[in-house]
Amino acid sequence: AEDLLSGKVALITGASSGIGAAAAKVFTGEGARVVLAARREDRLAALVEELRAQGAEASYVVADVTDGEQAARAVQFAVDTYGRLDAAFNNAGVGGDRTPMHLMTDDVYDTLMDTNVRSVWNCMRHEIAAMLAGGGGTIVNNSSVAGLVAIPTAAPYTASKHAVVGFTRAAADEYAQQGIRVNAVAPGTTRSEITADWFGRNPGLEDMVNSMTPQGRTAEPEEIAAAAAWLLSDRCPFLTGTVMPVDGGFV
Ligand code: NDP
Repeated sequence: AEDLLSGKVALITGASSGIGAAAAKVFTGEGARVVLAARREDRLAALVEELRAQGAEASYVVADVTDGEQAARAVQFAVDTYGRLDAAFNNAGVGGDRTPMHLMTDDVYDTLMDTNVRSVWNCMRHEIAAMLAGGGGTIVNNSSVAGLVAIPTAAPYTASKHAVVGFTRAAADEYAQQGIRVNAVAPGTTRSEITADWFGRNPGLEDMVNSMTPQGRTAEPEEIAAAAAWLLSDRCPFLTGTVMPVDGGFV
C-alpha cells in the first residue's frame, strides 16, 4: 500500500521532544515532508539532520507558539518552504504542576492556558487560511485524556485540554464543507519530558496511573504519533470533529 502521508506537507508544533519529535519520525516514515516548530533550536536542528540523513525532507522553524506572530511565521515558513500546507499536528504543550486546585498559583494557570490553548488558537487560524488557499487539508490537535475526563490535581491542565477539544469541534464544523478535517488525539500517559517531570516529582504517580490503565503501562510517543498520522491521512475522509483516545483503555 502507498505510504499514509505520501507527498503531504505537514507542520508539527512542539517537535523538539516527546510526542512531537516522534511524530516527525513517524510522519516522514509515512512519506510526509515536515516542518518542525518549537523553541529549542539545538533539538530541532539535530532532529532535522537525523531525518535528512535518512533521506527525508525536513526543515525547522524556531517559534514560540504562544505568540501569534511567531505562530503565523511558522505556518508561512511551511508554505514558503514546500509550496503549501496539507497537514498540521498542533502538539506543543506543557504539563504544569500537579497540585490541588486551591493551592495552584495563577502563574501555572497562565502558562497552561497560553501554551496549551492560545497556541492552538494562534496556529489553527493560520493553518486553516493556508489550507483554504490550497483547496483543503487536515488538522490534528493534541488534547489529552484530560480533555475528556478530569485528571486529579491537574485542574488547569484539564481545563486547557477540554478547550482544545472545543476548538477541534468548532473548526471541524465550520470548515467541513471546505475540504478541511479537524480531529484530536487524546493520549493517555505517554513517555516524554512532561511525564518524566511529573513522575520525578510525585513518587508513586507512575504506578498509580499504570494501575488505572487497562493495558497497565504508559504509551510510547510513537504510538500517539501513529494515531495522529492516520487521522491526518486520506484513509479516513469522513472522519472529522472526533476526539480519539489513545490511552490503553484508560477512558
Ligand atoms: P514534551 O515536554 O516532551 O514536549 C512538549 C513540546 O512542546 C516540546 O517540543 C516543547 O518544545 C514544545 N513547546 C512547549 N512550549 C512551547 C511554546 N511556547 N512554543 C513552541 N513549542 C513549545 O511533552 P509531550 O511530548 O508529552 O507533550 C506534547 C503534547 O502532548 C502536549 O500538548 C501534552 O499536553 C500532550 N499530552 C501529553 C501526554 C503525556 O502523558 N506525555 C498525555 C496527553 C497529552 P520547546 O520547549 O523546545 O519549545
